[in-house]
Amino acid sequence: MLRSAPRLYGMAAWAKVKVLDMPRLRPLLLEFKRLRRLLRRAPIVVSCRRKNCKRPASRMSFYFEWRDKYLMPGASFWCNKHGPSRYPDEEEEESPALPLSFDTMRQPGYGDRQSKKAIHLAVLKGLGINKKPARITEVFARLYFAKLSQSREGWFG
Ligand SMILES: [Zn+2]
Repeated sequence: MLRSAPRLYGMAAWAKVKVLDMPRLRPLLLEFKRLRRLLRRAPIVVSCRRKNCKRPASRMSFYFEWRDKYLMPGASFWCNKHGPSRYPDEEEEESPALPLSFDTMRQPGYGDRQSKKAIHLAVLKGLGINKKPARITEVFARLYFAKLSQSREGWFG
């Protein structure tokens, strides 16, 4: 999940459609659901971008690529109260503040490959996982999820 969230979200969406005809897909869907549920408890380490706001971030925004309108890598992080400012004459178009979660890949309009990649990288950063996805090993991911499943109230310890 941590390593290839875009691919896994794609597979899960496909499996959900097929599962009635192909019951052997059910374990995949259950595992996907379990990991998503655990990730809801994952502590977010980045704070809101607004100056002097020290709230932890819960949302993120991206600039759109100007031609193809996918989300570009490099998110801004925001708390529940703040978000990207709107200037009518601004040249670069920015997305609304989206939930800081892999689930944002499921929202209509952000399911293309490039946007999913940007969301993937931003969420890893938000969770304090400072690794390139390809560098995330299975051992690391197992430990991460094991910690989440032991944690209470969403925090380690
Ligand atoms: Zn804020």
